[in-house]
Amino acid sequence: MTQVLLLDGLRRVDAATPVLRADDLGVLRGEAVFETVRIAAGRPAFLDAHLARLAASASRLGLPLPSGWEELARAACQEQREGVLRLVCTKGPPAFGFAVVTDVPAETLRAREQGVRVVTLTLGVTAEQRAAAPWLLGGVKSTSYAVNMATLRQAHDEGADDAIWLSSDGEVLEAPTANVALVLDGTLVTPPPAVGILAGTTVRAVLDLARVPATVRRIRAAELHEADEVMLLSSVRGIAPVTALDGRELGIGPVTKDLRDAFEQSLS
Ligand code: PLP
Repeated sequence: MTQVLLLDGLRRVDAATPVLRADDLGVLRGEAVFETVRIAAGRPAFLDAHLARLAASASRLGLPLPSGWEELARAACQEQREGVLRLVCTKGPPAFGFAVVTDVPAETLRAREQGVRVVTLTLGVTAEQRAAAPWLLGGVKSTSYAVNMATLRQAHDEGADDAIWLSSDGEVLEAPTANVALVLDGTLVTPPPAVGILAGTTVRAVLDLARVPATVRRIRAAELHEADEVMLLSSVRGIAPVTALDGRELGIGPVTKDLRDAFEQSLS
């Protein structure tokens, strides 16, 4: 069931009630920010990290973020033990904040349990470009995700469940809604936010949990293709093993399994 709460007054509204103005710049220009937070054991997981990123994204869009997000997040989770909490703020004007709570989609649970088949697709920019051109909004979680969704459709057209973006100069970036980590010679490796990707809250937590050496560094596409294990990481899916990459069967490896169990346990 979908629940909607407005930031202003923490007012609950029926999910079918229209709440946005037709002239909101979030609607007209995609100028809005959001966070997707996992509700685990009745609490919003890693809320501080999500709220810090929401504020950073809003600042990059020149969006004056209203206050009250922590109260909104906690109020929204009151009636939900496990689920998805979306915090959204459009530019307006005036800026308009709300929360949407839903159940975890079955497809997400399946990805966590059984893994996903993935293809690599180009993002069409070099690994350095988005840092050098901040107006490309690398690392910003805005609602302008049409490119991300089109990438997923392309992956589906190619018979895969998901995609990993490569830079035009052959580096591993991220997935359209997740970060990427690999196991190479027993070490967990994940790319840095400096290549224009989102600074993930899940990958951050997983780096702290890893019982193998872990490092954040730039990764060549060739390394991805030689990796023993590959995984996608994001708030609601947690860790989804990549069971096939560009047609190469990988299965679910021991490091991925161990990390996934440790991560799930840390949230229960
Ligand atoms: N990269 C992109 C493009 C995303 O959309 C997401 C999450 O939705 C992530 C990475 C993972 O971020 P987090 O672990 O904070 O959910």
